Amino acid sequence: NKRIKVKQLLASEQTGHEVTVMGWVRTFRNNQFLAVNDGSTNNNIQIVLELGQFDEALLKRLTTSASVKVTGEVVPSMGKGQKIEVKAKTLEILGDSDAEKYPLQLRNRPSLEYLREIAHMRFRTNTFGAVFRVRHSLAFAIHKFFNEKGFVYLHTPIITASDAEGAGEMFRVTSLPFDGTPRNEDGSVNFKEDFFGKSTNLTVSGQLEGELGATAFGEIYTFGPTFRAENSNTARHLAEFWMIEPEMAFSDLEDNMNLAEEFIKYIIQYAMDNNREDLEFLAQRLVEEEKQKPQAERSEMGLIEKLEFVLNNNFERITYTEAIDILLQSPAYKKKKFQYEVKWGIDMQSEHERYLVEKHFKKPVIVTNYPKDIKAFYMRLNEDGKTVAAMDILAPGIGEIVGGSQREERLENLEARMKEMHVPAEDLWWYLDTRRFGTVPHAGFGLGFERMVLFVTGMTNIRDVIAFPRTPKTAEF
Ligand code: ATP
Ligand code: MG
Ligand code: MG
Ligand code: MG
Repeated sequence: NKRIKVKQLLASEQTGHEVTVMGWVRTFRNNQFLAVNDGSTNNNIQIVLELGQFDEALLKRLTTSASVKVTGEVVPSMGKGQKIEVKAKTLEILGDSDAEKYPLQLRNRPSLEYLREIAHMRFRTNTFGAVFRVRHSLAFAIHKFFNEKGFVYLHTPIITASDAEGAGEMFRVTSLPFDGTPRNEDGSVNFKEDFFGKSTNLTVSGQLEGELGATAFGEIYTFGPTFRAENSNTARHLAEFWMIEPEMAFSDLEDNMNLAEEFIKYIIQYAMDNNREDLEFLAQRLVEEEKQKPQAERSEMGLIEKLEFVLNNNFERITYTEAIDILLQSPAYKKKKFQYEVKWGIDMQSEHERYLVEKHFKKPVIVTNYPKDIKAFYMRLNEDGKTVAAMDILAPGIGEIVGGSQREERLENLEARMKEMHVPAEDLWWYLDTRRFGTVPHAGFGLGFERMVLFVTGMTNIRDVIAFPRTPKTAEF
């Protein structure tokens, strides 16, 4: 198979040699011009057929989305916007397509909502082509970043007995024996509500296990699927999403903030360097979308400008107490624009987070030192006895993308907190061992991968940046 990818072919701009291209027909005009896409780029390669070169019967089968194999000579193109095209020598149809039934052909400019209904086909659109190539690059950049920094990639369990206390509602694991389905007397399936006699769930976070790794390797990260039984149907929550969780020994909250900011900038830069074409396509898509909105609601910056701005500016760093003060002083508060109450001690709602980043600072914001009562037991208690060394990173258009903290490394403090929050110590004896045998200050965070992909691609619904979205309404695959 000597096929050349369209992206590589278009980039080389060389002419005079023979190539083989395989892909799917996008358009076929005047019985002569065949636009073929192979998914490596949104750009199509133009294949030129000579009139009379191929059977009428064959030409009829060149419908949108039929798969083809073409061999021919690369020649300079007369067409606008492309330097080369392929003069066909042989043309083979690999798979026919009934264009009348092709889901993407059924609507002109299909909406994102419609494409969600045909999620099995949406990769073939330019929008999703661009989104998933960018997602791929970000995933690759994540491993590259941590590898360069010497972090060990640790695979924490998917089925686990630990629930990372309060991170979210969990999915219980049940088992069905292989040898026939046991039934109850009423005929219903008799599931075993356990994992070989133990109660387990799908992981909501790999953090607690990650801490075991960090207190041995020094620095680790996880990058895997996490599951939360979110029955909320928001544009920012999925039941299955991917999370990146670095954990660093010998580190405090400041190190944690520095790492998170450097990390976010690194992966954005990687996408800017390697996915420029796709990002420009997505930026243009956004421009078109913005035109539908009333003037006042249009965003001031384009996608590329927004990413450049993030790369070139420091994230704002404020404490939770300062954040609440800003909200209380805000015109939005005075004009009673917030739906939810604002006072010290609240868990900030999305409207509050978005006010801080979009209206007040107009850039990403790191909020630190939250009240201990609204955060998990493992966060390090500050001197004031009221707040913990937590940090959330809030991004424009999205709100929270990162949640992290310095961990409580002092055994007595940790045990006291667990008692206070009714976390049974006997379930977490293995976790407490990290504090018993050579405890060290350590810190880490979790970045929701899909929220990051939303930010970089400018998409607005989380279902549009994961290949097979899992929400209460979508579980076809
Ligand atoms: P939120 O307040 O948005 O519900 P969270 O505080 O419950 O998030 P954390 O437990 O802090 O979330 O998880 C770390 C990160 O994982 C979050 O900052 C976010 O980026 C991402 N995340 C959390 N829940 C979801 C979800 N249901 N779908 C997609 N990403 C999520
Ligand atoms: Mg949540
Ligand atoms: Mg939160
Ligand atoms: Mg959080």
